Amino acid sequence: MFRGLCLPLHPRRTLLMATTVRRSLRFQAQQTTPLADDLDSPRTSEKRKRTLDEEEVSKIDEQRGAKVAKKTRPDPTYIIPDVTSKETTFKGRLGYACLNTVLRNKKPAKDSVFCSRTCRLDSIKKNGTEWVKDLGRKNAEDLLTMIQWNEDNDIKFMRMSSEMFPFASHPLHGYTLEYCAPLLARVGELAKKLGHRLTAHPGQFTQLGSPKPEVIASSVRELEYHCEMMDRMGLGVDSVMIVHGGGMYDDKTATLARIKETITKVLSPAVRARLVLENDEMCYNAEDLLPLCEELDVPLVFDYHHDALFPSSIPRSEIIKRANAIFVRRGIKPKQHLSECRPGATTLMERRAHADRCQSLPVELPDDMDLMIEAKDKEQAVLHLYRIYGLHPVIQESLRPPDENPSMETKGRKSTKRQKTKAAKEEGKGDDE
Ligand SMILES: [Zn+2]
Repeated sequence: MFRGLCLPLHPRRTLLMATTVRRSLRFQAQQTTPLADDLDSPRTSEKRKRTLDEEEVSKIDEQRGAKVAKKTRPDPTYIIPDVTSKETTFKGRLGYACLNTVLRNKKPAKDSVFCSRTCRLDSIKKNGTEWVKDLGRKNAEDLLTMIQWNEDNDIKFMRMSSEMFPFASHPLHGYTLEYCAPLLARVGELAKKLGHRLTAHPGQFTQLGSPKPEVIASSVRELEYHCEMMDRMGLGVDSVMIVHGGGMYDDKTATLARIKETITKVLSPAVRARLVLENDEMCYNAEDLLPLCEELDVPLVFDYHHDALFPSSIPRSEIIKRANAIFVRRGIKPKQHLSECRPGATTLMERRAHADRCQSLPVELPDDMDLMIEAKDKEQAVLHLYRIYGLHPVIQESLRPPDENPSMETKGRKSTKRQKTKAAKEEGKGDDE
């Protein structure tokens, strides 16, 4: 049975062995209890057992403490490669979506800061709504830390995770954000005090043009939830909610008409006030959405990457001019999205995936624009552009090196579909469109 010990031990196997040893310790402790114990009343015996268990527990805690102490050693020193300097006249703000990799990867894990704690529906059924609401509270608390980190690093523009309050818009298990009102107000006060813009991008299930009333109803609930979150933060008109045209349902013209009907007849004034549309790379390009946006005075967020994959027949400069005019009419600061294809991407599916970082600002980019960088390296992608273009000084300790061998696979996702979805959800990557 000890033959295995001659082989190098896999860390997991070591852990398994440790568990076995701990279990046998417990067993011995109970066995070596004096025989007299057997004569004690069941209560005394139980009490002794509990004392022994507690001793064991404290021993285990000590061991764990040692492990934790090991883990809290100083952060590793990162070697940050130089960047090639470029010039720009850009004076606007760069932002990132939902997740801060430096804060998310803090060790030990209990120090990790992120706003996309979520769960499966089964867990709500098992643990109750109060439990899921507590995840939302923790997410909102961590948002305060993220905003302050952004401030310290000259980033004044961020998209909030659409997972902030998990299942808040669910037809059965949904809940209002009343319970979190003071905390949300604090978040909003901090963002306003520092002059940060916070936006939202409700999930891909938000389909304003669906022919199914139940899909429209759930889309409206999703928008209402995001709107409630922003309203409770007291955020102004720049805090917009971005949605795509969605599916085409075999008839683009009829679907566009349904989108118009939903916006004009179904959405509440509060939701409509925050709604903006974005061109996508599969169904509705900028040219498809512009007439509707202009007619309804709904701003269009121009996404350069989507436009490269599904271009319009009108030039970018013209689209941007018309899109910005709607923002200006509405008194909302214009915004756009930027991402790049992963190196070596050739097929449409490969080109759809976002690169870890962006290497260039677009030539058509207006000088005073809020530009959301939709890249896998999140805040690192913003700092990368800061360094390339000398936009802002960067704090050396905030920098992390880029992946030396970025593959076509998107980072951090495992092989199975379920794990992929889970990883994407946990990391707020589902928001990165
Ligand atoms: Zn986008």
